[in-house]
Amino acid sequence: MLAQTSLNVVVVGGGTAGWMTAAALAKLLPNACNIHLVESEEIGIVGVGEATLPHIRSFNERLGIREAEFMARTRATFKLGIDFENWGRIGDRYIHPFGTFGRGQGEVDFHQYWLRMLHEGRPVDELERYSMACMMARLGKFALPSQDPADVTSTFNYAYQFDATLYAPFLRSIAEGLGAKRTEGRIVDVELDGETGNIRAVKLSSGERIEGDLFIDCSGFVALLIGKALNEPFQDWSKWLPCDRAVAMPCRTETAVTPYTGVIAMEAGWRWRIPLQHRTGNGYVHSSAFIDEQSATDALVAAVEGEKIAEPRVLRFKAGRRERSWVKNCVAIGLASGFLEPLESTSIYLIQAAITALLELFPEKDIADADRDEFNRVIDLEYDRIRDFLILHYHATERTDSEFWNYTRTMVIPDSLAEKLELFRRRGRVVKYREGVFLEASWIAVYLGQRIYPEDHDLRADLPNPDALQKGMESFKGEVIIAAESMPDHLGMIAQYCPMAA
Ligand SMILES: Cc1cc2nc3c(=O)[nH]c(=O)nc-3n(C[C@H](O)[C@H](O)[C@H](O)COP(=O)(O)OP(=O)(O)OC[C@H]3O[C@@H](n4cnc5c(N)ncnc54)[C@H](O)[C@@H]3O)c2cc1C
Repeated sequence: MLAQTSLNVVVVGGGTAGWMTAAALAKLLPNACNIHLVESEEIGIVGVGEATLPHIRSFNERLGIREAEFMARTRATFKLGIDFENWGRIGDRYIHPFGTFGRGQGEVDFHQYWLRMLHEGRPVDELERYSMACMMARLGKFALPSQDPADVTSTFNYAYQFDATLYAPFLRSIAEGLGAKRTEGRIVDVELDGETGNIRAVKLSSGERIEGDLFIDCSGFVALLIGKALNEPFQDWSKWLPCDRAVAMPCRTETAVTPYTGVIAMEAGWRWRIPLQHRTGNGYVHSSAFIDEQSATDALVAAVEGEKIAEPRVLRFKAGRRERSWVKNCVAIGLASGFLEPLESTSIYLIQAAITALLELFPEKDIADADRDEFNRVIDLEYDRIRDFLILHYHATERTDSEFWNYTRTMVIPDSLAEKLELFRRRGRVVKYREGVFLEASWIAVYLGQRIYPEDHDLRADLPNPDALQKGMESFKGEVIIAAESMPDHLGMIAQYCPMAA
């Protein structure tokens, strides 16, 4: 047995990353650590990040959070996927759904049969008609999924759209209830051990000094510990993901409270629309190399649907990640570890992935290299895969109407993505992962939604009798539409299940 004493864990930062980490450690490793979180209200949090991936549900469940209470407290709505407008060409529209196309069972993916029908010139409907999540989204419906795999309503998943400024306080109450300590104050210095290079303590402007065994850097873009104190290099990915600004502006909701996030391609980036219970979040993510902040702000203001609730606010960032997220006795989680723009709502997922890896590899006082290396391997993998998935959205376009799209359409992409594209172009094959985010349906939705059509299909899809196959597909499509139509409206479901306090 390895000797395990309780570690003093100092969490620097009280945004979504800081409080998710503190709550998870307090709940799931109560005997292994004493948690002390430091945050500065004067500095504040980034305060955006309203759309999530389905994985957040299991995070909340592990913390024993009741879904309806969480949704009411964070004024959340349901999210079945992302609706992409104008990406492949102006006028194009497709949904990246949370869930499968077809039943999602069997050796051969459903889209292979769909491709076969297409290649044989047989009548076949748009792919989204064979997806429960897509059809619910299109009809503005929502009900919780069935647990019975035979039921068509078990074939979708869901996430949330919530008020990012309310999630951290919600988690704070949980973490503090479990014994996490919090200190309010601005850190002005970081003390390193001259011999080991480990962080020994952080010093506050009040003069207070907080010592620790393990430091979690959740300080946001400033990366106070991993970047400033430990000088871990940042891998800059902006040549592939050139968006480096977002102008954000919430407004009153004038149109539908959709159970999906809208992302609309613009002249030099894209615009988000995220409807919550009390307002709609909007933002224009753009590249400063192709549009100036004022023009981007004007374009956003002109596009939003309702009266503005706050003045437009510009956020600046760079796509990329730290070479290593765990260095010495410091683990960076959240924006301190890296940032990939919010197109596929992956930041909170990355926080969760880092917390999961930290829980699994939680160290002894003398941190083993093997634990650190494994953590960094897992996090690198997550970042790299998400990076490729995001680049695909920009690269797979036929748009020629602006310098921005001309750049992304013709840029040299990473080999890892070029290989995936080649695989799909030949026979619609998708690289399968055993772990991580964005499984087959996600890649298929984006490839086909952005006009990457394979030349051929999986040979095994030729096996079934074509008439029987066509009949089966028609029947499944019917099941989907009947099930979707019989569900409550999204807003009706929220009113009954998780209304926010008046
Ligand atoms: C434009 C934009 C849109 C986004 N949209 C999404 C989305 O839809 N979905 C998604 O998952 N993610 C999204 N994100 C990312 C998401 O906002 C972040 O991942 C999330 O908020 C976590 O931030 P954080 O906790 O790492 O940093 P922050 O929220 O910045 O928190 C940093 C903390 O560190 C503290 N701190 C900093 N310096 C000091 C100091 N010197 N002393 C003491 N305390 C200090 C601050 O006070 C604060 O408490 C978006 C990000 C941007 C920029």
